[in-house]
Amino acid sequence: MTSPVFAPPRAAYLHVPFCAHRCGYCDFTLLAGRDDLAGDYLQALETELRSLERPREVDTLFFGGGTPTHLAPDHLARLLELAREWFRLAPGYEFSVEANPAGLTDEKLRLMADAGINRVSLGVQSFDEGLLKFLERDHREAEILDAVARLRERFENVSLDLIFALPDQTLDHWRETLRRAIELRPTHLSTYGLTFEKGTSFWSRREKGAIEQLSNELERDMYAAAMDDLAASGFEQYEISNFARPGFRCRHNQTYWRALPYFGFGPGAARYIDGRRESNHRSTTTWIKRVLGGQSGIAMSEELTPEHRAREAIVLGLRQVDGIRREEFRTLTGFDLDDLAKETITREVAAGRIEDFGDGIRITHQGRFFADPVMISFL
Ligand code: SF4
Repeated sequence: MTSPVFAPPRAAYLHVPFCAHRCGYCDFTLLAGRDDLAGDYLQALETELRSLERPREVDTLFFGGGTPTHLAPDHLARLLELAREWFRLAPGYEFSVEANPAGLTDEKLRLMADAGINRVSLGVQSFDEGLLKFLERDHREAEILDAVARLRERFENVSLDLIFALPDQTLDHWRETLRRAIELRPTHLSTYGLTFEKGTSFWSRREKGAIEQLSNELERDMYAAAMDDLAASGFEQYEISNFARPGFRCRHNQTYWRALPYFGFGPGAARYIDGRRESNHRSTTTWIKRVLGGQSGIAMSEELTPEHRAREAIVLGLRQVDGIRREEFRTLTGFDLDDLAKETITREVAAGRIEDFGDGIRITHQGRFFADPVMISFL
């Protein structure tokens, strides 16, 4: 049986690199305050999409950013038109867009719904005015409530993103954030601990002592509270940072965690096709210049060896709470999981961070607190 790795991708990602301004903790590929480049971006995107040669059928389509909904209505309409021109949505499809509460006008919501978008992931992060300001988000609590109410009129599937481990945040405060989020009845929640990425203003401020990072213990307690409180409210944790009501797991992201192939377009976008990983130039201006100048927008292209592919499949698969099934792993990678990683499995099982349930392995509740080192140990 041919590995699903070599099947045509059934998922596509389009990166939209625009935001009103750059939040202090963000190191994503984006241009802040350069809406004047949206036309060139769309032209470059169209050029890059033409490399598909013909429209492709996908099960999931995902607009990420940046803030896709920051685009002006005419540019958003053009983006949607391009996506629909090059991707045929299979029955039962999932079409997601990342959005921010600020500037989410009814006109944009209508365009999105008319184009078939059926899942919206809203960057809420916090309901606290002081913390929103600290994060340099350009929305306030009232805009979150208004955006969620209007989203719910058109979209059944609404996910909220939250950030925890913010300076001076207490455990009670975080639990209150969770409670407020649950009260809004989302279908899905993603929770991330604040990270300090090199090159961001938060990183330099922390280096200078202007921001004090929360202790690891408190951050762990907050993560534990998210797992407990969301489970108690009917959310299934299906990935290290992701929780869903039954039937609302993000299918697009599951493609990544299952190490299945996907298309990627736009600056900084990654793709995985025929066992080859590629990523585009992260600088939006470089990517636009190259693509419109008739050159490739690709910055990195790497053919993975079968073993490298298999090890990556372990690392990605362990992010999923359901873990990795030995039989599926063999079909996907051609490797026997135990031939490849018996020693590491034994060690992690003994440490209580991995559970071997016979048909496969999965990360334990305890292991989720140390997800990164556990996964790295399999590389
Ligand atoms: S809105 Fe999101 S993508 Fe844009 S700068 Fe802020 S964190 Fe980054």
